[in-house]
Amino acid sequence: MSSESQIHLQQISAHVYARVGVANASPLTNSFGANAGAVIGCDAVLVVDTLMSAAQGGQLLSAIRRITDRPIRYVVNTHHHMDHTWGNCVFAAAGATVIGHEYTRQALHDPANGLARAQRYRISAENLAGTVIVAPSVTFRQDLRLDLGGVSVELDYPGPTHTAGSIIARIREDDVLFSGDMLFTNYHVTMIDGDVANWCQVLRTLQSTAPRTIIPGHGPISSVADLQAMEEYLRVFDEEATRLCTGKTAADADAIAQELSLRLPSPPRAELPFIVAANLRVRYLPR
Ligand SMILES: [Zn+2]
Repeated sequence: MSSESQIHLQQISAHVYARVGVANASPLTNSFGANAGAVIGCDAVLVVDTLMSAAQGGQLLSAIRRITDRPIRYVVNTHHHMDHTWGNCVFAAAGATVIGHEYTRQALHDPANGLARAQRYRISAENLAGTVIVAPSVTFRQDLRLDLGGVSVELDYPGPTHTAGSIIARIREDDVLFSGDMLFTNYHVTMIDGDVANWCQVLRTLQSTAPRTIIPGHGPISSVADLQAMEEYLRVFDEEATRLCTGKTAADADAIAQELSLRLPSPPRAELPFIVAANLRVRYLPR
């Protein structure tokens, strides 16, 4: 099975590097195009999200090691989804402490989120060779601040959004925010575990506290305009899906997805088009 040969980390700011803007997103070769990053302080390195396998996480670790030899002390999971957490095992084995919201820990211990879940995306055992799910060992409910020496990372939980445990990571010194999957840019949005009403509210709040640079969960480096577009996407998707799915069944999902896609607000989103029908099956149609 082919895999991405090397992960490139782009320098975002003085202390922050990230893998961003992956094209041709695929569960097999690039963790659905999930982003990940590293914050490098004088004393320690903090990794934000770890991609979806030991192999992908290992490539991320190698990419960080090409930039710095400082100790990788922390991994932060923005939420529990596989494309952001299943590489945790590589960093835990290298001595990092995995940190996340308490719900993220709970979700990663849930057998329903086990490695077998990968089969629905046709991810093979070979893709997952060496992968072991590692849940956060340090958890929090509201906020947590980690000092890396000369730079700190503030973790904040704004209530349920993309998942019940999604958090953001702010690096104030650099005016950078890792939004996790609260923001998708140029990607269709996974809403299967979402609380759409609070998610829209949180996106509005984030717009008013606008950091200069946002690293979304998927897609290129983003700004406040992308938060606004994301809020509009969620609102329109939810309204139209509710209307179009009335009286329909799961067998209609693909046809409704086609019609719904025409009604979604601009800018158009090129990546993960299959997510539209998946959202309909899980959230809006009877199973
Ligand atoms: Zn996600």
